[in-house]
This record gives sequence, C-alpha cells and structure tokens, in this order.
Amino acid sequence: MSTRVLVTGGTGLVGSAIRHVIQTTEKRNDEEWIFVGSKDGDLTDLQSTRELFEKYKPNKVIHLAAMVGGLFYNMNNNLDFLRKNMLINDNVLLVCHEINVNKVVSCLSTCIFPDKTTYPIDETMVHNGLPHDSNFGYSYAKRLIDVLNRGYFEQHNRLYTSIVPCNIYGPNDNFNPTASHVIPGMIHRLYNIINDNTVDTPQEERVFTVWGSGKPLRQFIYSLDLAKLAVWTLREYDSVSPIILSVDEADEVTIEFVARSIAKAFDFKGRIEFDTTKADGQHKKTASNTKLRSYRPDFQFTKFEEAIKYTVDWYLQNQDKVRK
Ligand code: NAP
Ligand code: GDP
Repeated sequence: MSTRVLVTGGTGLVGSAIRHVIQTTEKRNDEEWIFVGSKDGDLTDLQSTRELFEKYKPNKVIHLAAMVGGLFYNMNNNLDFLRKNMLINDNVLLVCHEINVNKVVSCLSTCIFPDKTTYPIDETMVHNGLPHDSNFGYSYAKRLIDVLNRGYFEQHNRLYTSIVPCNIYGPNDNFNPTASHVIPGMIHRLYNIINDNTVDTPQEERVFTVWGSGKPLRQFIYSLDLAKLAVWTLREYDSVSPIILSVDEADEVTIEFVARSIAKAFDFKGRIEFDTTKADGQHKKTASNTKLRSYRPDFQFTKFEEAIKYTVDWYLQNQDKVRK
C-alpha cells in the first residue's frame, strides 16, 4: 500500500517548503502528499478536523498548523496562542488516533525551552522550567504536544513524535511586521524604507531601525533545509522523543548581524540604528543538534547569508503573493 501523507499548515512557510522538496530532491513515487491550510478546515474545531481527515484518510501526518508569530505578536497575544494551539493540537492528534494514522510528526520550537537554563539546550529539557514570559502561551501549548505524544504511545502504542526547529525563514513566510518573526519583519520594513517615495531623503541618509539592542543571539534555519529534515523525520526517525532540527551551535548569530545581512542583500546604503526601548526577548536559546548529527552527520545547511539573499530575492519577485 502506498503512503498517503497529510500536511496540516501546508500553505505556510514550512508547509510550502515541504511541498517544494517532495516535488524535487525528496521525491518518491510510493508516496502521495496532500497539503491543507485553514481554508480546507478549521483545526480548532473538532468536527471540522474530523471531516478533513475523513476526506483524505492519511496514514501519516506532518502536523504544522498553528498560530505562529514573532516576539512582539506573542507578547500581545499569549492567551490566544495558548488556547488556539492547544485546541488544534488536541484535535489533530485525537483524530489521527481515531482514524488509525500510524505516524505523526508535530512541530515544537526552540523558543519553548526554559528561560533560565544551562546551555546548550537539548531535547531532555522541554519540561524543565518556566518559559520566557514573552511567549508563555505558545510555549505551554507546544510543550503539551510532547505530553500528548507520550500519552498516545503509552496507552495506544502510537508513534506520534515531534521536531524542534530553531527560528525558521524563507520563501512564503509571513512578512507582516506586526505578527512576523525577525527576518521577514526586517525584510518588509527595510523594503518600505528603501521604497518610500513620500520623502526626498537620499538612501544614504535613510535609517533602518532594528528593534531592541541587536545583541540577542539566535540560530536560524532556512525553510528548505528544515523541509528536507522534516521529511527525513517522517520517513526514518522512529522515537517518540522530540528531535531538535537546528543549525550547529557555531552558526548562532546576533540580531545585529541579521540586520546587516539583510541590508547587504538589499544593497542598502543608509544607516542602521537600534531602538532599545523595544524588547529583546530571551537573550539566547542556543540549542544542541547533537542528536540530529548522530543520524545525519553530513547534512549540509545552506549558508546564512546565501539563504538570506534567496529569501530577499523571493520577496522582491513575489510582491503579488507576499503575506504582509
Ligand atoms: P505559518 O507560515 O504561519 O503557517 C501556519 C499554517 O497553519 C498555515 O498553513 C495556516 O493556514 C495554518 N493554520 C493556522 N491556523 C489554523 C487553523 N485554525 N486551522 C487550520 N490551519 C491553520 O507558520 P510556519 O512558520 O510555517 O510554522 C509551521 C510550524 O513550525 C508551526 O507549528 C510553528 O509553531 C513551528 N515553528 C515555526 C518557527 C518559525 O520561525 N516560523 C520556529 C519554530 C517552530 P492558512 O495560511 O491557510 O491560514
Ligand atoms: P524569537 O526568536 O522567538 O525571540 O522571535 P523573533 O523572530 O520575533 O526575534 C525576536 C528578536 O529580534 C528580539 O531580540 C527582537 O528585539 C529582535 N528584532 C529586531 N527587529 C525585529 C523586527 O522587526 N521584528 C521582530 N519580530 N523582532 C525584531
């Protein structure tokens, strides 16, 4: 019997990247892939979730659908992040069990780990201590996926597992600065500064303002790299325990470096300044990819500045369909 894979959140940043890799480098003829977004069914609603899964009858699922956003969106919407994501995750895993889906890969994040912790963070630390105040809603909802996975394994012997990506960016991201993560938010804000025709200021005198001090550290993974690893997880990884999918610790960069790389990709000639009245969030979330490297020692991540350039070029060439 061929494998039928349903991808929830299939219209988003990660879902669209998976769609791309399974049509190209990761293509297999014995798999059928179906990608669904919120227009196909509202996963916060149990009945709608049942109808969607009954319609496609998958035997494997990559579950990406979630309320997602950057630091500032999280800070203003903790309750919604908690409630929507708890509902989506509970409905999806329950219905997967009901219709006998034999493998589910759900998505956590390195931003759900304890705020006060030792570094590097690893997979054993998901439930260790309080998450950062800025995103407690999202964090607890995501941590509960791991609790659900353990429960489905212990009571029903299901192989429902999770991946833990670091900060993701790439084509089809959400570029709306109010809701977005740092990279798409900066790309959109800088584009608007460069293309602001309401002022005569030459570009050399224009200012790109980084929110916060620029000093926090982050690991970033290009969506196409994550997509390949997510497909590998579905096909090969056979443990219920989460697996961190992140670039190496040595590839962690400052937010200032991110801003400078984006400015370079746009060939921006103005100044970069820092608005320190805005929040920095957690200083760092350095995660270890030792477990991933034990399975995939030779996996090549796309170089950061190269992938930033691809993302900026995609943004410039797809203005008609950019989420902003
Ligand atoms: P995204 O681009 O915002 O996409 C979210 C997806 O979820 C969209 O396909 C959206 O559908 C769908 N969705 C949202 N609410 C839904 C609902 N009520 N019912 C059905 N579908 C719904 O997000 P992403 O960045 O690809 O994130 C994918 C996964 O990675 C998420 O689980 C996220 O928590 C995790 N993650 C993301 C990051 C990051 O930096 N982006 C980092 C770590 C982990 P429509 O677009 O059709 O509305
Ligand atoms: P996080 O990695 O989960 O904290 O979320 P983000 O992707 O939103 O990154 C937040 C970090 O980037 C914080 O240190 C912010 O101060 C900084 N930052 C700088 N400029 C921006 C921006 O335009 N948007 C966002 N979301 N964060 C920014």
